[in-house]
Amino acid sequence: MPIRPLPDILVNQIAAGEVVERPASVVKELVENAIDAGARRVDIDLEEGGARLIRIRDDGGGIPADELALAVSRHATSKIASLDDLEGVATLGFRGEALPSIASVSRFTLVSRPGDAQHAMALEVDGGRVAEPAPRPHPPGTTVEVRDLFFNVPARRKFLKAERTELGHIEEWLRQLALARPDIELRVSHNGKPSRRWKGEVDILEQSGLFDARLQETLGEGFASQALRVEHEAAGLRLHGWIAKPNYSRASADQQYLYVNGRAVRDRSVAHAVKQAYADVLFHGRQPAYVLFLSVDPRRVDVNVHPAKHEVRFRDGRLIHDFVYRTLHQALAETRAGIEASSMT
Ligand code: ADP
Ligand code: MG
Repeated sequence: MPIRPLPDILVNQIAAGEVVERPASVVKELVENAIDAGARRVDIDLEEGGARLIRIRDDGGGIPADELALAVSRHATSKIASLDDLEGVATLGFRGEALPSIASVSRFTLVSRPGDAQHAMALEVDGGRVAEPAPRPHPPGTTVEVRDLFFNVPARRKFLKAERTELGHIEEWLRQLALARPDIELRVSHNGKPSRRWKGEVDILEQSGLFDARLQETLGEGFASQALRVEHEAAGLRLHGWIAKPNYSRASADQQYLYVNGRAVRDRSVAHAVKQAYADVLFHGRQPAYVLFLSVDPRRVDVNVHPAKHEVRFRDGRLIHDFVYRTLHQALAETRAGIEASSMT
């Protein structure tokens, strides 16, 4: 065959292979878009574990009518405009890939209304084919509807698991998002019934009571009652959040949440630092539970490592490893000292 450029739809479907693994990845991308748009409340309606329907509605800033078509075209984004922006990126999205990818493997509708617009416009995309936008009633904000995910990619559709399993993956993503943003209200329904609700709170993100409430709401009383608050700042790094006391250890790594500049990530080096901090106080084979937020100058961390952005790369990984280790080691040593002191009285 001669060399030819691939058709746009196929390019998007190939990208979808990396960004859209399953319904949970769609929920993640769409809720992140809502958060980037400044939403205070996000409604998530699901059917059949998201395989039949994912509908995400937000009350954020919306998309101007003349930008709707761009929102579903590849590498089009309102979040960065230069390499310099990329290096300091503060939004969750920046690749301009999610909407075109999702739209290429589903029956997709985007309805949006900026606060100052008279009405909303709707754009339908069916398996990658984009229709003309048309007016539609909708309050200020955005709704994205994704029906029949992978209907045109049978090989992918086949790999979807049972409804419960897919719903479980979605709920895990939502827990991650909910822990990081207690200021945002999230309402979830599944097959027409309300299934989960995180109450939104006031504006002040740093208010510790707000986070405490969300922690309890999300991970339960068990963790919340055994959690130690940590907070430490040094060398331009800040670590805050909660770590569970050693007596609340887990059989698996199911309650380990790490955020770097507000983004939920997996990082082997930080996970190792945490494990090391617990080394003397946990029984062999037990896992610590934690929710930790690490803030680093965005210029010292590369978030553009993987299309799904599950990973980051630190410019000074060693420094960060030691900072995390020392902060947690200190916090754990203090409780141990506290316990020993109180048992002597
Ligand atoms: P990215 O988030 O990387 O920019 P996306 O494909 O997810 O790429 O979205 C493309 C663009 O569409 C965004 O940059 C944003 O301008 C707009 N957009 C998407 N979802 C929303 C939303 N819920 N509210 C407002 N604007 C949105
Ligand atoms: Mg996005």
